[in-house]
Order: sequence, then C-alpha cells, then structure tokens
Amino acid sequence: MKRLVLILLLLIQLPVFFSCSDGGGGTPASSYDYHTPEEVLAFLDEVRLQYPLITALESVGTGLSVDGRPIRAIVISDNPGTPKGEPAIRLTGGIHGSEMISVELMIRFIEYLTYNYDKDAEVTDLVNKRYIVIIPVLNPDGLAAKRRYNSRGVDLNRNFSFAWEYDTGGSHGSEALSEPESKAMESFSQSNVFHLSATFHSGAVLLNMPFDYDSEKDSVKPVENTLVRSFGKAYTMEGTFLNNPDLYQSIDMEDGVINGGNWYEISGSLQDWSYKETGCLDVTIEVARRNPSTEAGVQEVFEYNRKSLLAYIKKAGYGVHGQVTSATEPDGVKDVEVTVVYNNGAGDIGDIVVKTDSKGYYHRILLHGNYKIIFSKSGSGYSDNIISGVSVPTDLSLIEQNVTLTTP
Ligand SMILES: [Zn+2]
Repeated sequence: MKRLVLILLLLIQLPVFFSCSDGGGGTPASSYDYHTPEEVLAFLDEVRLQYPLITALESVGTGLSVDGRPIRAIVISDNPGTPKGEPAIRLTGGIHGSEMISVELMIRFIEYLTYNYDKDAEVTDLVNKRYIVIIPVLNPDGLAAKRRYNSRGVDLNRNFSFAWEYDTGGSHGSEALSEPESKAMESFSQSNVFHLSATFHSGAVLLNMPFDYDSEKDSVKPVENTLVRSFGKAYTMEGTFLNNPDLYQSIDMEDGVINGGNWYEISGSLQDWSYKETGCLDVTIEVARRNPSTEAGVQEVFEYNRKSLLAYIKKAGYGVHGQVTSATEPDGVKDVEVTVVYNNGAGDIGDIVVKTDSKGYYHRILLHGNYKIIFSKSGSGYSDNIISGVSVPTDLSLIEQNVTLTTP
C-alpha cells in the first residue's frame, strides 16, 4: 500500500516550491519514518533516563494541546531545572505540524548535545555555560495529523498577541492567544526568562528576522536592527547553511537572512511577539524546502544546521550580565526590567526589555559599544538605577555588572 501511494505521488507532479505560508513542508510521501508526537515523548523520556545529570523535562505552560496531547520541553544544561543566570536559549520545532523535518532537526540536535557532552569540548562548554531549552513539538495535534494547523484549524504562528489580526477564515484564532498551544508558550516564556530563541520551519531555506507584521521596505524595522541581523548572520554564516542548494534566492536576502515582512507579511507571529513582548530575540529558521523522504536527506538537513545551531547558542553569551540585589532582598530582586538606551541617552530605547529571573540575575545580549542601562521595577518602591558607560569590548566577551537598587 505504501509503495502504491508513492508511485501515485510520483505520477502527480509535485509542485517545485512549497512556501511555509501556504501549507508547509511538502507532501510527506516518505520512506523515512518520521516521529509521531507519542514517539517524541518516548524519545525525551529515554534521553532523560540516559543523561540525568544534564537534562530535565518540563511541561510547556499548561502542557496540553487541544486534543490533550502533552507539550514538553527538555532542558539541557549542567544545572537543569535550576537556572543560575546563564544565557537561556529556547529552540522550538513543529509549530506547523506538516513541517516534520523541524521536529527531526530538534531530535537530532538533542541527541548531538547530550551524546557529545564530556566528549566534545565545544558542546561541553555550551552545556556548562548556557541554559538550553528545546521544545521539539509545539503543535502535537498538527504533527499527528501531518497538517499545518492545530486541531481547531488555527495557524499557531498567527495566534500570538503582537500585531494579531482577525482573518475571515478563522485560521488566526478567535482572538490573540486563543489556542492552548500558544497560551502554553506564553506562560512558559513568562515563568522562564529566555534571552535568545529560534523557531524551526520548512518550506524554504532561509533565516527570517523580525518583524513579520510589516516590512523593512516600508521602513518598519526593529530599533535594534543591527543587533538582530548580526544574530541572524551568526546562524547562517557558520557551518554549511549557505551551501544548501535550496537556499532561497531574492535581492532582499543578505547572507541567508531576510527581514520577515520583506519575505511576506504576517500578523500574530511567534517571533514578533517574543521580541516585542517578552524581551527575547527570536528568529524563524526555514531549514528545508520539503520534508526529506530518506534518512540521508534528514541527516543532510541536520548537517546544514549543526554548526549554525552551536554558533547561535554561543553568541547568546555576549553582552552584559549580573545580579540585581537590594538591602532588603540581598538574594536577588526578581522582575527588574533591564532597558538599554542607545546613543548615550539621546537615542532610542532598545526593543529588548529583559527581566531579572527569580534570583535577580539578568543577561542582556549586546554588540560592541558603550551603553547606558536602566534597571527599574515599577511599583516596587525602588528608585531606577541608571548605569552609564557600560562597555562591551570588540571581542564581545561577557561583561559583569552587578546592580544594587535603593529606595528614595
Ligand atoms: Zn512553518
């Protein structure tokens, strides 16, 4: 039966280009056995058992899809389950259920990080110095049905609350964050502080950076466009990502990076929401034109992205970090907003407003330069602490800046 389906699909000529916008990763005519949502959970359990010292499993928010499937994250760190102010990275696959290769990429990367810990110096260093959180499947119902949408026909990458718009077809949801899967991501990203993230898709090969809701061509771009683009390029320019013959071709592409709205505008995307509303720089990475049909094809996609993933996670460590304390809260003040002011105070406030974690630690990604940084907690009774002349050197090493808040 499988063979007959394959022959039929070969007879019906497949379209040459599947865009992520119009339905995903291509027809899953495949000799490769893609993971089902249940197999992904079993895989995570197995990794947890095999590598208990460097992994932890967590529920993503409420942790259940529309049809009641668990949504899980795996933490890979030398201190899993207890962040200690390290740069925290969130990687997400399977937001579009038909883009199964994005799930396989997450699975292979989880295997790679855990297997190579204490064997490969670079991997060991990253696991020791970063807090890596991977959600292999955000849309398990979609993955089970091999379709883009969740069980209620909603495109989760149109359901987030920044620049959300109603669409007559209902695929954006009845309101922003109407779906349990997007809601789960929201609460997970509020209870954990993430500093850098990426979400994986298929349908093309490129890295898409904020914003999606409008285009750079219309002069709508992040205040921290230079920072955002440099993080995008940290991914695409490492390893062999740009050697992929399926790399998207457009005059708007620069080293494999494209402004989201210059590709095509969408509203309510995960990356715009992450960046503007949670203070986490997020990018959308399209890793293949279609779901590969063979093991070799899947492995090839992993190889095109392996070094990029490592470089991106490494780059999360550059900038300024430290702990915010006060006389009454010597163990750390949580939820302090850290805001960067550009051009020595005469310029704009940065888009990325990161908060301190439960122990008062913060980490702010930054490029080389001198910065003025404001530490504030509204309604707390603390005065704002404004620190000028924070200098990030050209070698982009991490600067430590501890801060004390006082009352007036
Ligand atoms: Zn997609």
